[in-house]
Amino acid sequence: MSYSISTIAQAINSRNIFRDEHRAPSVLAFDSRRLSDVNKTLFFALVGRRDGHDFVVEAYNEGVRNFVISEERDFAHSCPEANFLIVTDVLTAFQSLAAYHRGQFTYPVIGITGSNGKTIIKEWLYQLLAPEHIIARSPKSYNSQIGVPFSVWGMNERCDMAIIEAGVSEMGEMDSLETILRPSIGVLTNIGPAHSEGFSSLSAKIEEKLKLFKHSDILVYNPEYLKEYKGDVPGKQQFTWGWHGDVDLKIGASEMSADKKSQLLRGVYQQKEVQCMVPFSDGASVENAVCCWATLLAMGYHSELAVSRIERLHSVSMRLELKTGINNCSIIDDSYSLDLSSLAIALDFLKLQNQHPGRTIILSDFPEVVGDSASLYEQVAKLIESKDVYRLIGIGPEITAHSSYFGIDSTFFPDTQHFLAALDRLELEDETILLKGARRFEFEKISKALTQKVHETVLEINLNALEHNLNYYKSLLSPGVKMITMVKAFSYGSGSFEIANLLQFNKVDCLAVAYADEGVSLREAGITLPILVLNPDVAALDTIIDNDLEPEIFSLRVLRDFTAALRRKGRQQYPIHIKLDTGMHRSGFMREELSGLLQELKSSEIVKVSSVFSHLTSSEDPLDDDATSSQISLFKNMTRLIEEHLGYRFLRHIANTSAISRWPEAQFDMVRLGIGLYGIDSAYGQRNTPLDTVAVLKSTISQIKHLRKGETVGYNRRGVMQRDGKIATVKIGYADGYSRKFGLGQASMLVNGFAVPTIGNICMDMCMIDITDIEAKEGDEVIVFNDKITVNDLARIRETIPYEILTGISQRVKRVYFYE
Ligand SMILES: *Cc1c(COP(=O)(O)O)cnc(C)c1O
Repeated sequence: MSYSISTIAQAINSRNIFRDEHRAPSVLAFDSRRLSDVNKTLFFALVGRRDGHDFVVEAYNEGVRNFVISEERDFAHSCPEANFLIVTDVLTAFQSLAAYHRGQFTYPVIGITGSNGKTIIKEWLYQLLAPEHIIARSPKSYNSQIGVPFSVWGMNERCDMAIIEAGVSEMGEMDSLETILRPSIGVLTNIGPAHSEGFSSLSAKIEEKLKLFKHSDILVYNPEYLKEYKGDVPGKQQFTWGWHGDVDLKIGASEMSADKKSQLLRGVYQQKEVQCMVPFSDGASVENAVCCWATLLAMGYHSELAVSRIERLHSVSMRLELKTGINNCSIIDDSYSLDLSSLAIALDFLKLQNQHPGRTIILSDFPEVVGDSASLYEQVAKLIESKDVYRLIGIGPEITAHSSYFGIDSTFFPDTQHFLAALDRLELEDETILLKGARRFEFEKISKALTQKVHETVLEINLNALEHNLNYYKSLLSPGVKMITMVKAFSYGSGSFEIANLLQFNKVDCLAVAYADEGVSLREAGITLPILVLNPDVAALDTIIDNDLEPEIFSLRVLRDFTAALRRKGRQQYPIHIKLDTGMHRSGFMREELSGLLQELKSSEIVKVSSVFSHLTSSEDPLDDDATSSQISLFKNMTRLIEEHLGYRFLRHIANTSAISRWPEAQFDMVRLGIGLYGIDSAYGQRNTPLDTVAVLKSTISQIKHLRKGETVGYNRRGVMQRDGKIATVKIGYADGYSRKFGLGQASMLVNGFAVPTIGNICMDMCMIDITDIEAKEGDEVIVFNDKITVNDLARIRETIPYEILTGISQRVKRVYFYE
C-alpha cells in the first residue's frame, strides 16, 4: 500500500517543492544511519535531541528523494532532485500521516496502555489471536510519540487486526496518540502505585492514560487500579477483571504447581467456576496472563478456548542478544518474532558489527503469510541486501520457493533439522551471524549449536542503556564540542568491540585506550575511529604507527622516541596528543617544561599536535572545587601559550565524566567521557540519577542446604547460623571479582526479588547466602548487582570506588550484550 507524494502532502497539509510527482514513498525514516529501501523512503527531519535537518543531505546522498522538513536551509540547491514537503512541525506531520493511514482501515485495533506489561501483553495477545487473525503489531516496545505512528504505519490491507501499544510520560501526550491509534478495543494493563514526574497526582496520571480509550467500543481493565480515580471510565462497554469486588472475570484461589513453574488459578466467569493453569509462577506474569484472558473473553472467545490458549502461552524475550559463538563467530540471537519491522531492527544491529569480515543471516519462513508471499520475500531480499549482509541461509519451504529473489550468496534448507545436520560443511567461521526465525522453526536449537557454553556467572551489558547515557552526556555539551569516549581497561570491564561498535555507530569523535594492544584489538575488529593511546610504551611505538593509533605524549623522552620511530617509517604530520600536568602529578608536561616542548615541536614536520589535554584530580568533589578551578585556569593559560607558539589550532580537553556534569566551563573543544557511559557518575545521588544501569552481574544457586541453629558455614567456620534455616551456594567467588570484603553478611544479593545477606567467608569460586526467609530453589537466578543493589553500594562496602568494582570483574565471567 502506498500513497502518491501529493496525497501525502495533502494529508500533512504541507507547502511543497515537487521535483517528481510520480513518486510514492512507502518507507518512513528519520535516522539517516538506518535507511533501507531508499527509493521508497520518505525522510522526516525530526527535531529532537538532534536536528534531523542536519542529516538531510547525508540521506539525499544515500539516495533518498522525499523529505518532510520545517526549515528549508539551502536544500533546494544541495538536493536538486528531491521532493520537499515543508511543514511547521515535522513530528506533527509524521503523526498526521499516520492518522490518515489509520483512517483507511476498519478492522479491529487493540490499543494497550498502562504502567507496566504493555509489550508483554501485546506479544501475548498476538500469540493468542494469531490462529484466527493476520495481525499488524508494534515492533518491540515502540510506544512513544514516534513509536506509535511508526507502528500504525505498519498496518496494511493484508491484515485484519492490529495490536499497538501506547505510552505517555507526561500530561497532554495521550491526545495525539489517541488521534493516531483510535483503538476499538482498549486494554489497560495496570497503573503503578506512585505518580511519576510528569504527572501532578496519581489520579491525573490515570486520567491521562484513559484518554486513549475515549472512542473505544470496549475497555478491558482491573478496577483496583482506578480506585484513586473519580472521573468517568471510557468505552461504550467495559469488561473488568481482578481479585476483588464485582468483576466480570474474578480470580479467587491460586495454587503453585509442584515444580513451581506454573500457577493454577480458580475463578468465576458468568456465574460459572473456571480454572486455568497459567504457565508462569511470578506475580507480574500471572497478572499479565489474567489481563490477556480477560481480553479474549471480552472479545467473545468461548471460555474453554480462551483457557486452552492461555495455558500454552510462552515467554517472550524482547531483546537481541549478542553472544560469543563457536569458530570465532559472534551470534545475534533474535528468534522471538519474525516480521519485517523487527527484521529491519535486527539487521541494523547486525550491520553495526565490524568485528568479523563476514555477516550472515539465518532466516526462516515468515509466519502466517497469506496471499502474496512473493512480494513479501522480494521486500525481505531488498532489505537484506541494503544492510550489507554477505550470506543468507534460508530455512523453510516458503523462503526456499522464493530463493530467486535473493541476489547474495545463499543456501536453503527445508527445516532446522536439515540445517543442523549440514552445519559442519557450511563452514561458519569468523563472521557475525544473525538468527531470526519464526517460533515453530525452533531456532533455539541453532543458537545452542552455535554459541559457546557460558559459565553460569554472567555480566549482562545493556547496550540501550549505554546509548542512553552517551546521549545524556551529549545533551550537556555546548554546540560543537566533541567527545572522546574512554574504552580503556576493557571498557571499564564491560567489553571491547561490542562497545566500540556501538560508539562508532553513534558517531563519537574518538576512542581512548590505556595501552597499544587494546587499540590493536579494536582495529582488528574493524573500528575506524581515531584511537588515543594513553600509555605509549617505547616497545609499542611501531605498533602504534602501524595501526594508525595516536599516542599521548607526556614527556620529551616519549616525543623523541616517537619522532625517531616515525622518521624510520618515513611518516609525516602524524597526529599526537600532548598531555599537560595541571596538578595531578602523574604524567604530562609541567608549566616550566613547555618551552623545551615548544622548541621541539616547532622544528618538526613529522608530528602534528591534534590535541592538548590535561586531567582533573577531583572534578566530582565539591570540597576540592578550588583546586579544580585552578587546574582549569592553568590549563587555559598553558594551552594559550602553546597555541601562540605553534601557529596552528588544536583541540583542547580536560573534562572527564563528573566535569561534564559539574563544570560546564571546562568543556573547551572536547570532553572525555568515562564511567558515566557505564551508568555511574558520583555527581548524582544514587537514587535520582539520570543515567541508566548498564551492567548487571548474575549467577545461580547451585545447592541449597538446611542447617540448624549454631551450625557453621564456610572456611574457618566464620558464618554461624543464628537460628534454624537454609543457605544457598552461589557460583561466584573472589576469583570472579567478588571480594572477600563482601562476606560475613556485609553485602546482599537478590534472589527472586528479595535481598538476602552473604553468610560466612567468600570462597575463591563460590559463596553462600542465607535464604532462610525466602522461597528459592536450586538453579534460581541470583543478582549480584543491578539497579537495586548497585555497584556504588558494593564500592562503599569494599571501601573503594565503583571503578575498581567494575574493572575487577574477572575475564572468566562471560559478558552477554543486549540490544532492544
Ligand atoms: C580514565 C580517564 C578519563 C575518564 O574518567 P571518568 O572519571 O571515568 O570519566 C578521562 N581522562 C583520562 C586521561 C583518563 O585516564
